[in-house]
Amino acid sequence: MSDLLPSTTGIVGRVLRRGTEAYESLRRAAVWHAGVPHRFPEIIVLAVTEQDVVGAVRLARAEGLQVAIRSGGHSWSGSHLRDGSLLIDMSNLRDIVIDRASMTVTVQPGLRGSELLGMLRKQGLFFPVGHNYAVGIGGYLLQGGFGWAGREFGPACMSVVAIDAVTADGERVHASDDENADLLWAARGAGPGFFAAVTRFTLRVYPHRAVTLSSTYIFPASCAADVFRFVNERGRTTPLELGVVVQRHEIAGGEPVVILHGLAFTETEESARAQLSLLEECPALGHAILSRACEPTVHGAVELDESTAVPNESRRWIADNIVSDAGADDLLPNLHTLIETLPPAPTYLLMFNWDGYPGSPVRPPMAFSLEGAFCYALYTAWDEASDDDRYRGWTTGIMRNWEPYASYTMLADENLLNRPTAFMTAESLERLDRLRSAWDVEGRFVSWLGRPDGERERASERAQG
Ligand SMILES: Cc1cc2nc3c(=O)[nH]c(=O)nc-3n(C[C@H](O)[C@H](O)[C@H](O)COP(=O)(O)OP(=O)(O)OC[C@H]3O[C@@H](n4cnc5c(N)ncnc54)[C@H](O)[C@@H]3O)c2cc1C
Repeated sequence: MSDLLPSTTGIVGRVLRRGTEAYESLRRAAVWHAGVPHRFPEIIVLAVTEQDVVGAVRLARAEGLQVAIRSGGHSWSGSHLRDGSLLIDMSNLRDIVIDRASMTVTVQPGLRGSELLGMLRKQGLFFPVGHNYAVGIGGYLLQGGFGWAGREFGPACMSVVAIDAVTADGERVHASDDENADLLWAARGAGPGFFAAVTRFTLRVYPHRAVTLSSTYIFPASCAADVFRFVNERGRTTPLELGVVVQRHEIAGGEPVVILHGLAFTETEESARAQLSLLEECPALGHAILSRACEPTVHGAVELDESTAVPNESRRWIADNIVSDAGADDLLPNLHTLIETLPPAPTYLLMFNWDGYPGSPVRPPMAFSLEGAFCYALYTAWDEASDDDRYRGWTTGIMRNWEPYASYTMLADENLLNRPTAFMTAESLERLDRLRSAWDVEGRFVSWLGRPDGERERASERAQG
């Protein structure tokens, strides 16, 4: 242990070393669900100022530790819990400045997306934040970010116009398209593989649309093929956000059901209704157990309310996903396997249309570099640690069956530890590696838990060796 004390690093937040009770409760709180990984940082720094982040990086250097970062703590895999690291907890960095004149907002990483959206809405503004009320801005923006109206605005990282960050040398830098542009390029999609600590994001914001209508239909599992094929074919070019959820449901006595959901985000009720009329063309419509057409809603409204937010944080969870252009014929066999072996609720499969919005905006230069029409994400929950292997194995196995049809995996719901797979183009990965070598010569910042090229990143190798 070095003699560099928190007082000499200038850190005013708490500095907790492994072995204390306070350390363990902060370590557990760093992952939002009950399946907290058995990975133990040596030190946790609870930053309260940007200067604390500088101090924490310098402390890590002095102690020969790698650095991992937590903002909202909503990484499903708990990517930031690493053996032999110093964890910087950024959840208390929560400043926000809205600049209506320039249609930008500068926000710190500890703020939740729902909080940001709530503040923007009061000013008639909008940002495509994530769907769950508690997802932190920090990890969400870095990994790409699929959010409300994301189909129209693209991955949220497209709307990041600048960042302020602390580098591996403990220096504060600003990155925009005109200054340290390569760092901004990396921040737009590197996710848990980013090699600096972001303390502020500057985001482009948008006018809030007047009308949001949603339609929901629930079908028995026997309609799965019809609903799935309908969405897979018609969901590619519609401006509607279309979602299909497969889960066991009390409405069907605990048997699996298929929920079809459409969301229109428009200026007039007439155009929202016109968009949603597409759902009435679903060939399974006559078999719906429940139909709710064109209900007014507000983006993020449910998720702003903690009491109604799902999923349940007291459970153990794993997530995995593929993004794919494949047609229904290729994907349906595994969908049937999934339905036949589906664990109890709240485990669910979510399919939603993603790329392909008519007239979608041109992507800026960014590490987030792969495209695909639909995301298929599987979220599995259970209670007992003794069932970890069973449910992790089931989830990984189902997604592996779809691997031949996958374009990439979203880092949002990554399962790289169990299923390393492509999350950006090989060229982007190579460029990111080169930038990492330049910005973080000693490999100070930990990287992804697994890599698509099969090469486990340096941090994991060291931690496991
Ligand atoms: C219930 C739930 C719902 C979700 N819904 C959505 C959704 O609708 N859309 C979507 O896109 N994703 C969704 N996700 C995934 C989520 O957005 C990502 O896991 C995201 O990384 C979470 O951000 P965070 O700040 O809360 O996470 P954290 O766990 O704090 O961060 C994730 C990783 O990002 C890196 N990181 C975080 N902050 C910083 C920083 N300031 N500087 C450098 N690196 C940093 C770290 O490597 C960290 O391990 C959901 C997750 C959950 C659990």
